Amino acid sequence: MQSRDQFNSVTLAAPAKLNLFLKVLGRRSDGYHELETLMVSVGLYDTLRISPDPEGRLSMSCHDSGRVQTGAPKRELPPADADNLVLRAANLLRQITGTKQGARLELIKRIPMAAGLAGGSSDAAATLVGLNRLWNLQLAPHELHDFAAQLGSDIPFFLCSAAAAVCRGRGEIVEPLPLPLRLHFVIARPPGGLSTAAVFKQCRPSPCTWSSAQLVEACFQGRLDSMAICFHNSLQEPAERLCAEVGTLRRWFARQGFVGHMMSGSGTSYFGLCRSRRHAQQLAARLKAARLGDVFVAQSRP
Ligand code: ATP
Repeated sequence: MQSRDQFNSVTLAAPAKLNLFLKVLGRRSDGYHELETLMVSVGLYDTLRISPDPEGRLSMSCHDSGRVQTGAPKRELPPADADNLVLRAANLLRQITGTKQGARLELIKRIPMAAGLAGGSSDAAATLVGLNRLWNLQLAPHELHDFAAQLGSDIPFFLCSAAAAVCRGRGEIVEPLPLPLRLHFVIARPPGGLSTAAVFKQCRPSPCTWSSAQLVEACFQGRLDSMAICFHNSLQEPAERLCAEVGTLRRWFARQGFVGHMMSGSGTSYFGLCRSRRHAQQLAARLKAARLGDVFVAQSRP
């Protein structure tokens, strides 16, 4: 996670993720689903600025980046209250460590919400990392990992510094995977979002016969086409039943020259893998013209 310290405050870039592989293995007795997923962190970021509060209060504000295109609908923002994952992470740290220190947390949202891009989870991970530094809590990586897993299944992934990871369990068992190549994506977020819980409720264990290992192997051989053949998301079919816009995006992406394409996480974002940054920019321009939703060009991180 990229960060910068300045005059006592800490600024962190909280990236989005894409799932190139997401297999639902079964439902567990605790209600969670057992997963195998390959997540890649991409260069679409929220920004979190944390400064000390001398009165010991904890407060947050949430803004959009102010760079929304003219005529585009205003981007939806999460509530800046105790339900926000940023404040939940900060409150958990205070409760567990007993610190009475306060902070002002200023979040600039660029990652669309309820989109399968895990913006909220990434913001929570940035909060844990930033407050550990600002409050000088000296929590070890394994302690941060445990707090992250308590808050949400996708959060531990964002604590690992690798560009990608294979995640198991309910997502909290993270095996970092340094990527040998830069991946170029176009991401579309249709107007509608989906709740992760609603999509999981509809899903069945996957009939997919391969594992993330084949995708990892193709990635290490630099074979983009073989990687795309291994893309899988068990949540796509239920998401398409709940949100017709996902199917519309699938049909649109299938008619363009993407190396491969799929829905990310529990949707509704849809991504296409491209051969280069130029290729991604060309296809993104076409997608913008098709007016199917917000469009982003993003690369995997180094
Ligand atoms: P995932 O891929 O992990 O399922 P997602 O991309 O579908 O995540 P998020 O945008 O991360 O979904 O968050 C889902 C919900 O969490 C939102 O609808 C919102 O109400 C709540 N939330 C709480 N804090 C935040 C935050 N900082 N940013 C975004 N959403 C937040």
